[in-house]
Amino acid sequence: MAETADVIIIGGGIHGASLAFHLTRRGLRPLVLERRFVAAGATGRSSGLVRMHYDLEPESALAWSSYQIFRNWSEIVGGECGFTRTGFLQFVAADHAPQLRANVAMHQRLGIPSLVVTADDVRRLAPSFYTDDFDVAAYEPESGYADPTGSAAALMTAARAGGGRLEQEVQVTGVATQGGRVRGVETSRGSFEAPIVVNAAGAWAREVGSFAGLDLPITTWKHDTAFLRRPKDLGLTHPTVIDFINLMYFRPETGGLTLVGLEDGNPLGLSPDAAGEQPESDFVERAVERICRRIPGMDRGSLQSANGGYDGLTPDQRAILGPAGPEGFFLDCGFSGTGFKIAPAVGACMAEWIVDGRPKTVDVSAFTLNRFTEGRRLTGDHAYGEIWR
Ligand SMILES: Cc1cc2nc3c(=O)[nH]c(=O)nc-3n(C[C@H](O)[C@H](O)[C@H](O)COP(=O)(O)OP(=O)(O)OC[C@H]3O[C@@H](n4cnc5c(N)ncnc54)[C@H](O)[C@@H]3O)c2cc1C
Repeated sequence: MAETADVIIIGGGIHGASLAFHLTRRGLRPLVLERRFVAAGATGRSSGLVRMHYDLEPESALAWSSYQIFRNWSEIVGGECGFTRTGFLQFVAADHAPQLRANVAMHQRLGIPSLVVTADDVRRLAPSFYTDDFDVAAYEPESGYADPTGSAAALMTAARAGGGRLEQEVQVTGVATQGGRVRGVETSRGSFEAPIVVNAAGAWAREVGSFAGLDLPITTWKHDTAFLRRPKDLGLTHPTVIDFINLMYFRPETGGLTLVGLEDGNPLGLSPDAAGEQPESDFVERAVERICRRIPGMDRGSLQSANGGYDGLTPDQRAILGPAGPEGFFLDCGFSGTGFKIAPAVGACMAEWIVDGRPKTVDVSAFTLNRFTEGRRLTGDHAYGEIWR
């Protein structure tokens, strides 16, 4: 006889774990099926930035709602998420300053601690930074970064303690339906039955969607990151930064390291299984050149390590959430390289969608799949343009 659950979640990354956690809080028994191990995909490679600065209001609202969980993790979830407060700065070129001001005003309306600061303020916050190429920046004093692998593990531990189950080394190979309704899944370890099946398969979400007859507009996005060792005289730490001027983000890491990722040159459409996790051949050189533009003293730094990871990218670079395809099939995927920081609240919204019929924590109803066929791509009121070029 097939094993049964209330909800089957395909994928044990931060989103599968978050949804499992929230479902158990609603009294359901979810089963997470993971083909490798928890955080084996994008989550285990994530840079872990936790900031609220988006140009799309529901994403800022998701990040802000998630932040309440990151900051109170041990009481709400248990265990550790490794949140480290560094302060966060968003740099944009002068011609985007009006958008930055409008977006900060939107963040403030949501209650997010965010303010517009001058280049002089940034010099005081981060004396090692070059600050002559912008007039104003956005500053979030409470933001920083967290540990994605630890966060996923903690959510999964809490979900299991609350009646959820996790099966690792189980690959889902098909979605079973009957009369237009989901019945369960086929896997490398036999059949599992549930009336609800959720696609939380990250970079593999398109393939998993095809099991339910969907042709999801999700391609794979490869993203490399480098850990660089800072010269000691640059100080013990620095703020976390998204630097649109240099198409880059960076944050401090323990041990005197700085993690750098680039917004351009991230290859699309590679197979995460075939292409591997080596960085692109020119990545380190490009990353070093960019960070030295913003922190000139980094030309005396050295390389610690570099790696690549994969996420699913959608045409408007925003997630796809909610029901789609056969009745009982849900999408929780397409996080487009920015899905870690919003995962705690997305899991709450998805659990509400499944249990109550609509998301409540944040209104994410605009994130449904049909936006692409109905010409409703998500874009901010004061958009900066796409993050990834
Ligand atoms: C290098 C890098 C840096 C990033 N930095 C940030 C950041 O700083 N801040 C931020 O907010 N976001 C960041 N992101 C994005 C963020 O990490 C992802 O959006 C998020 O981790 C996606 O989580 P997920 O659970 O959807 O996917 P994943 O973590 O990829 O999990 C999906 C899981 O599904 C499993 N799976 C796939 N197919 C099957 C199947 N058929 N059967 C069973 N299991 C299956 C996979 O093994 C995988 O473990 C980054 C991403 C990368 C790659």
